Amino acid sequence: MPRLLRVSGLAAAALLGVVGVFLFCEYLLYYPVIRRCAWPPLVGGGGGRGGGGGGRGGALRAMVLSDTHLLGAVGGHWFDKLRREWQMERGFQTALWLLRPEIVFILGDIFDEGKWSSPTNWEEDVRRFHRMFRHSSDTQLVVLVGNHDIGFHYEMDWSKLQRFEKVFNSSSTRILTKKGINFLLVNSVALHGDGCPICRSVEQELVKLSRDLSCSLQKSPPTSSGPDGPTEGCEGAEKHPPTPPILLQHYPLYRVSDASCTGEDAAPPEERHLLFREKYDVLSKESSQKLLQWFKPRLILSGHTHSGCEVLHDNRYPEVSVPSFSWRNRNNPSFILATLSEESHSLSKCFLPEESTVIAVYTSAGAVLLLLAVMAHCLSSKVPLPPCLGLGLCALIGKHKYL
Ligand SMILES: [Zn+2]
Repeated sequence: MPRLLRVSGLAAAALLGVVGVFLFCEYLLYYPVIRRCAWPPLVGGGGGRGGGGGGRGGALRAMVLSDTHLLGAVGGHWFDKLRREWQMERGFQTALWLLRPEIVFILGDIFDEGKWSSPTNWEEDVRRFHRMFRHSSDTQLVVLVGNHDIGFHYEMDWSKLQRFEKVFNSSSTRILTKKGINFLLVNSVALHGDGCPICRSVEQELVKLSRDLSCSLQKSPPTSSGPDGPTEGCEGAEKHPPTPPILLQHYPLYRVSDASCTGEDAAPPEERHLLFREKYDVLSKESSQKLLQWFKPRLILSGHTHSGCEVLHDNRYPEVSVPSFSWRNRNNPSFILATLSEESHSLSKCFLPEESTVIAVYTSAGAVLLLLAVMAHCLSSKVPLPPCLGLGLCALIGKHKYL
């Protein structure tokens, strides 16, 4: 074979390889990885993919993720932004395509710099969020507020909170009911309990919601106005399905540390024993107890720590810490798949591709490309490579040529 033809063949193989590896790492890899995930069956109530059982209308398929931290204009390097946002977009879009959730919750810290971004930068961040997390009308997207969206307690103000609520078209503390399941959504950044104006407003709302829910759970005695007359003290209360709520918020309820957390996405061993600070890493003991006593939630889902953990509060109330969805915060991001009915729930975790895997594939491909370049050089030129580069490759190729 003429030398030029062999060099062109090598160049074509290299080009095809580069395109193939790029397509695999940036697009195709997400499909086999997320395809391994499935909706968990409901315990004692059917379920499975599509979720049978569990009350009227079947079970609800809910996907829960957290801490996307879209980088802003100040702290974000453009390549970091491009890389991690593409990963989240592909992960989310592939999950929607393969798993078809009916509702998706994002548990706050959507943006990294919402706490200080200018109106122009805020608009730009919001535009990118809507592009990345686009979805069909079959899927409802519900977004909760985190400290990076409006600032920690002492940084937040009404204007930041209102611009967040305006973008996501909802109040940050409310009850959302779907298929008979009550989701209690809480602005946990405002649970400092120090009487700040936003804290007071959120607490008043929680008192009202607690009354509404406890009145909904009470059985109404027959009255002269009929069997469904209001229970005493419940006049004017808003009716909800009579089941305890699932509490969703950004901050976890108070826990001492992550020492008891296990699993492949728990905090690293050297960090697990670090004590959490109340009102910074977790809610205060007082606010946590208030939420538990007022609402008696059957499940709590929270974010903020970027690592996975399962906790049982007061031997009765399970909480799951949902890890970050971004490669920027961890090598193995994930999301929760929840099959829910009015009475029960079942959870599983779905991991996205690991960043280290993608880097390893690119590094291996780079090494092969370098080898091909050396081979092409040997074939196209009679000038020998420097010994440090050649490494005897030309000699090997030279031998091989004449076999
Ligand atoms: Zn946070």
